[in-house]
This record gives sequence, C-alpha cells and structure tokens, in this order.
Amino acid sequence: MRLQKLQISGFKSFSDRSELAFDRGVTAIVGPNGCGKSNVADAIVWVLGEQSAKSLRGDQMMDVIFNGSEARKATGAAEVRLMLSGVTSISEKARSPEPADPDDIEPVMARDVEVTRRLYRSGESEYLINGELVRLKDVHVLLLDTGLGAKAYAIIEQGKIGQILSTRPPERPQHSEHAAGV
Ligand code: ATP
Ligand code: MG
Repeated sequence: MRLQKLQISGFKSFSDRSELAFDRGVTAIVGPNGCGKSNVADAIVWVLGEQSAKSLRGDQMMDVIFNGSEARKATGAAEVRLMLSGVTSISEKARSPEPADPDDIEPVMARDVEVTRRLYRSGESEYLINGELVRLKDVHVLLLDTGLGAKAYAIIEQGKIGQILSTRPPERPQHSEHAAGV
C-alpha cells in the first residue's frame, strides 16, 4: 500500500486547494521556516482520524481551519483527501482458503481508496470513503483492515530524533517498545 496523493484545502496554512503527489521512492518537502512543511504531516494525521488537537499542534480542533492572512479571507471549512493505492484487505486474505495448487492462488485485489475528512466552522464534521459519507468508525475499520491501524503508522516529528539521541540509556528502550507497539 502506498500514499499516492494528498489534497489539502482550507487546512492550516493551505488556503487554496493544493495537491501533493508522492511518486515512487522517497519524497522530500523543502522550504523556509514556517512555510507549512509540518502542516503536510498534520494533514495526513488528521485525515486518518486523529481526534487530539494537541497532536495536531493546536488548542482546539477548529484551529486546523485556515484562519486568514493579510491577503486572504479565512475559509469556512478544512478538507483533506488522501489517496491510497495498492490497498489490500487483511480480512479478505484471511478468508481465502489455502489453495491445493499454488497456480490457483487468487490474488487479493489491490484497490485504490480515497479517504476524506472535512470540518466546518459550524463544528460539523464529515468523513468520506471513496466519496461516500461514513462514520469515523468506518475509517478506523478501513485502516485496521489494511494493516495501517489507528496507530500503526509512524510519524517521526521535528525534534524527535534529537530527543531519542539525548535520552538516557535506561529510557531508550521505551522508544523501540513504543514503535513495536509493546
Ligand atoms: P519549520 O521549518 O519552522 O518547522 P514548517 O514549514 O514546518 O516550519 P509549519 O509548522 O508547517 O511550518 O507551518 C506553520 C505556519 O502555518 C505558520 O505560519 C502558521 O501561521 C500557519 N498556520 C497554522 N495553522 C493555521 C491556520 N489555521 N490558518 C492559517 N495559517 C495557519
Ligand atoms: Mg516543521
């Protein structure tokens, strides 16, 4: 499974709709301080269902909506869309019986999935999977079924590497245990 494309509009510093395509290999985002690099990582965390405003570097969830600048008016809503490709389902894999002949192996179909999250200034929020309104719970179930899980992805944020390197030896195992989900 891969992150393929991210569309951000009205979210944090992204007033207009911006699209980022993640090609094969490593993608690096470069820019001056405060230009919105970390906001891209926040957008990914948010669309995957994050409920803690603090994890998104805000005081309340409303802080993610673009709140205007000298040149632009604030937007009425924030929207992030994430396109995942090559998504396979763990439950489908588990359901398909072991074939006697290896040539009979039916590949579990890899799908493209689009997850969308919106938040309006009215406080109303929406989640969509492939353009259909769903509950937050459905997003969680989808992620669990892809193996991505609610907390199974890792985002190593700014300062984290330094923090890991500077921890005292007795505390160091905590990081690997956290990463391993122990
Ligand atoms: P650094 O290199 O210092 O880590 P960065 O590129 O990671 O910077 P971010 O932290 O992603 O920068 O972006 C910070 C910018 O986002 C600030 O200018 C801040 O004003 C802006 N910002 C955050 N939330 C909003 C919002 N709701 N509306 C408008 N701008 C916002
Ligand atoms: Mg940053």
